[in-house]
Amino acid sequence: MYRTFIPGIAPLTVQPEPSWWFAFVGNKLLVRAEGKVSEIPKLITLAEIALEPVRSQFLGTLDGQPCYSAELPKDALAPDGFTLQGLRELYGTLDEDLYTLSGRAIQIVEWDRTHQYCGHCATPTTQLSHERAKRCPSCGLVNYPRLSPAIIVLVSRGEELLLARAPRFPPGMYSVLAGFVEPGESLEETVVREVREEVGIEVKDIRYFGSQPWPFPNSLMIGFTATYASGDIVIEPQELVEAGWFSKHNLPQIPPKLSIARKLIDSFVL
Ligand SMILES: [Zn+2]
Repeated sequence: MYRTFIPGIAPLTVQPEPSWWFAFVGNKLLVRAEGKVSEIPKLITLAEIALEPVRSQFLGTLDGQPCYSAELPKDALAPDGFTLQGLRELYGTLDEDLYTLSGRAIQIVEWDRTHQYCGHCATPTTQLSHERAKRCPSCGLVNYPRLSPAIIVLVSRGEELLLARAPRFPPGMYSVLAGFVEPGESLEETVVREVREEVGIEVKDIRYFGSQPWPFPNSLMIGFTATYASGDIVIEPQELVEAGWFSKHNLPQIPPKLSIARKLIDSFVL
């Protein structure tokens, strides 16, 4: 983030003022498109462009400017001059701060949409005013926006790195290993387990690298590096179609710059 984003639950003033509106139809974001550049609409309300959200949430302020997320009706159409686009396609065409906020916004929209009723007793929930949470007035269950932490790890062996292909990857693309954290695990334990389960090798020297929100749909990727300790590669066929050691000088196709996977690989190679 280059500008200062201050998260909030409710606007500080009731005065309507121009705000950034992160409005979604399903998982597509409404943007004003001008050639290769996209812009988030800045409006007092979405009514200015003849749209009425099903529900909206105050997100906070970006350099003092209010930011809202909004869920638009399923059949809403983009007004003239606007388009609806997935977040992956928008990478590189939106201002970086606004791109990051779009990822935050879609997760708040999803949480808002899917927690209208208590998951335990089906009573309509009420939103708390002091934190981002919905509470059941009947049984007291509180639900926060869902986050699914996942580790992602670059395993190296001298000048080589371990890359693998999952069946869902585009043809020819390889990446580092990743997997969700299980209840009760430390992140380091997840790293050891995932590498062992997916490719059958043992790793050591696990070091924190960095993290990245990954709103597809609600992950937080926590990056690590590790070095090879022992074992031969034996892939888990449910998870992977191929895995191997690659020289840093002769890499296959790797993920685009959007991802922490790429940052991990670049940090090793460059
Ligand atoms: Zn309940």
